Amino acid sequence: MFFTPIKYNEPVFRPPAEAQSVIIQATLGCSWNKCAFCEMYTSKKFTVRSFDTIKPEIIQLAQSFPKAKKFFLADGNAFVLSPDKLLPVLTAINHQFERAQRISSYALPKDILSKSEKELKALRALGLKLLYVGIETGDDELLKRVNKGETFDTTVNGIQKAHDAGIDTSIMIINGLGGRKYSRQYALRSADIINRLQPKFLSTLTLSMPFGQKHFQHHFKGDYQQQTVKELFEELLLFIRHLDVDNVIYRSDHVSNNLVLKGVFAKDKEQIISQLKNAINTTPDNIYPSTLAIL
Ligand code: SF4
Repeated sequence: MFFTPIKYNEPVFRPPAEAQSVIIQATLGCSWNKCAFCEMYTSKKFTVRSFDTIKPEIIQLAQSFPKAKKFFLADGNAFVLSPDKLLPVLTAINHQFERAQRISSYALPKDILSKSEKELKALRALGLKLLYVGIETGDDELLKRVNKGETFDTTVNGIQKAHDAGIDTSIMIINGLGGRKYSRQYALRSADIINRLQPKFLSTLTLSMPFGQKHFQHHFKGDYQQQTVKELFEELLLFIRHLDVDNVIYRSDHVSNNLVLKGVFAKDKEQIISQLKNAINTTPDNIYPSTLAIL
């Protein structure tokens, strides 16, 4: 949305699919804020905004966008909020926007696990239908190195709990997260976890190093070797070949990606593989991706 009647606390990030959604800042920053590859919220101290602050903004937004159907709760992981803080916000959205259909938010698996099944179902009943979860990979060694604060098991348990409550997920992983040395285990373990999760949506982003390669290298104890664009395509191909999923909607169209790929795996997997093979065959061996800060 380009015009907004309220003043947001910048920077504000939202998934590409929420471009048309009304954004409501329920929190500022990220409660974790420690991932080695991320600088999205390093300029913000994590803050829970009070309902008394948020409610007038929802009313103002409803006056400007009375027909809005989709809503995104910002910032980083607004789903960290306890149900007693989230429920009034969801109720106010439903009350002010009579066409409200879907509310979504970024979440960490631990944010889901901290809520009971009953609480998740209550949030779902008020329209919280989609959570965006950047799991990055299913490989525990890499999750530890990038300081994600999650494991294969906590990720599976958290996301499965959301699915059991009727909440869909959109999962993001990062191509190139482990560099050349860990490429194969990254691809295979990431495919393993997606096969377990069967999310509704899957996106692949490509590693960028906003703090610089030296900073990222530090977390790998000197083990990180940057991959060429061709090697990143090969890693992605290995990952996709090992996927065993049906109706997962796939997108690789983030600004960090070197090749745009889209499809539903049940019918488009072979076409996506063919596009990747073509990219591998036509990309020179010595091209490296940009390491600029891309968020
Ligand atoms: S990747 Fe997500 S969880 Fe990690 S620091 Fe960034 S916003 Fe927070």
